[in-house]
Formats: sequence, structure tokens, C-alpha cells
Amino acid sequence: MQIVLATANPDKGAEIRNMLPEFVQLLERPSEVGEVVEDGDTLEANARLKAVAICAASGLPAVADDTGLEVDALGGAPGIHAARFAGENATYADNVNKLLADLHGVAAPQRTARFRTVALLRNPDGSELVAHGVVEGTITEAPRGESGFGYDPVFAPTEVGGATFAEMTDDAKNAISHRARAFANLSDLLTSKPNSGL
Ligand code: IMP
Repeated sequence: MQIVLATANPDKGAEIRNMLPEFVQLLERPSEVGEVVEDGDTLEANARLKAVAICAASGLPAVADDTGLEVDALGGAPGIHAARFAGENATYADNVNKLLADLHGVAAPQRTARFRTVALLRNPDGSELVAHGVVEGTITEAPRGESGFGYDPVFAPTEVGGATFAEMTDDAKNAISHRARAFANLSDLLTSKPNSGL
């Protein structure tokens, strides 16, 4: 089964490639398709915008994901705006620095947060599979670790006992991450409905 990857982010592409069943041949996003404006109100709406655009351009099933970071002490911010938390052209470091500044003075027990991912497969006939994944954690006081991307240096998943995602190996992160869980759930749906992406 051929599926086109609707993400232009190479960090995420590398992770997703290892998360789908072996019968899926994941094709690169067509380079001629411009950036999709993600102006939906929900993760699912934004994942759908990306998948629909790539499905229409390629004529093949397309898979997209969208991730949000919900920080409880900030009322759920940055939420779906995780990529542009510090402004339109913010770098990963800008976003991490803004998050740490906004949490200045917030004590450890109140620094709870979660990553939430929606993975969505869109077929040319308009049918869809939608799957969710969540990982709970806390925002550390300072960045730690060099691996991963985005908010990984300041997100310590609860089930690991202190390390940030950026201090873990790729395999260890992918065993528990929000995106891995969403794609595992999507893989289950694909495996139970193997014709849905053909
Ligand atoms: P996207 O909408 O799925 O591209 O994700 C939005 C933003 O969330 C990204 O630009 C990253 O800053 C952040 N993000 C998404 N996934 C991860 C992750 O696995 N670790 C750390 N940050 C992430």
C-alpha cells in the first residue's frame, strides 16, 4: 500500500517512517506542493488540511499528523499553536525560551503538561482514518539533552522518571511518544481495515 507523507518537517518524517506497518510504502511529500496554511481550530482540523492537500495533489492516500503541547499552568497554551508560540517565524529555541519565561516562578508540581497528536489518513474517495496519541509529562526548569526537536529538551515524560525526551534515545522516545501512540493506533486501524488506504 502506498501512502504519501503530508509533513514537510524532516524531524517528524524520520520518526513516522518507522511507525507504520511494513505493508505501507511511505512516499515523500510532493515538492511542488506549497506550505499548507494550518488555520484550523483543532489538531484534527489541521491534520485534515494537510492530508487533503497532499491527497488531492498526488491522487494517493495521504497521512498527516498535527501535535499540540498543553501546559496546565498556562491554561492549555501553547496548545495547537505550539509551532508559532513565540511568533510567526519562531525557532524551536525561541519557543522553548518563551515557554520557560512564561512558567517562571511556577513550582514543579504545577508544571504538568502533555503532548497530544492526531494522525489522519485521507483517501482519494474522501474516507478517513483518525487516530489519537497522548503522553503526560512535566516542563523542566531548564533545557536538558541534545536529541529530538521542538520542545523535547524541556519535556520530561512522567513514565520515565526525570529524563527529558532530548536526553532519551530515538527508540526510547518512540516507545512512548504522543506521535508513536497516534501512529500505533492508526496502524491498528489500517491493519484491521487493510483496504481502506488502497
Ligand atoms: P506540528 O503541528 O505537528 O508540526 O507540531 C507543532 C510543533 O509542536 C512543532 O513545531 C514542535 O515545536 C512541537 N512538537 C511536535 N512534535 C514534537 C515532539 O515530538 N517533540 C517536541 N516538540 C514537538
